[in-house]
Amino acid sequence: MSRTLPNIIITGTPGTGKTSHCELLAERTGLKHISVNEVVKDRECHEGWDSEYQSWIVDEDKLLDAIEDQAKQGGCIIDWHACDLFPKSWIDLVVVLRTDTATLYDRLTARKYPEIKLQENMDSEIMEVLLQEAKDSYDEEIVVELQSVTADEMESNIDRIEGWLNQWKENNAA
Ligand code: ADP
Ligand code: MN
Repeated sequence: MSRTLPNIIITGTPGTGKTSHCELLAERTGLKHISVNEVVKDRECHEGWDSEYQSWIVDEDKLLDAIEDQAKQGGCIIDWHACDLFPKSWIDLVVVLRTDTATLYDRLTARKYPEIKLQENMDSEIMEVLLQEAKDSYDEEIVVELQSVTADEMESNIDRIEGWLNQWKENNAA
């Protein structure tokens, strides 16, 4: 493996805090925040807009092409509410953020999600869909589940990921 920096996925149900974590982590570490939402939109990795769900219909092959060069270089923090599409060989750590249902409900309501999308995301969090997807797609030892309800938890999550990053750098030093 030729990466000099690791690639990290931050995943979780919409509203669990992926983008907030990625932005803070990028600021602290200098790793690059890859907002898959923005890549999909800006590089047109989609087959159109789903108006019921108010979201893009993602073309996964195009998306992988769009981020492949960066991912192969390493040092990416991938921000997306799915993780099973990324090749195992690209990924060094998968963080699954979790939020209790009352808090998640408030966050998604504040976003004015359409009812169907709100319900689906609440169900997804309750059923631990993303955690299961991560465990099914990657080696269990690189999957970490972290609570993301309070600002203090976010701080300690970032500290923990930074600690992991420093350890990775030490282990992979030339
Ligand atoms: P996602 O990218 O997973 O959809 P965001 O990072 O956009 O989630 O967070 C959704 C909302 O919840 C934002 O208003 C954010 O400030 C808030 N939030 C997320 N995680 C936390 C946390 N651990 N503590 C406090 N507020 C949080
Ligand atoms: Mn987000």
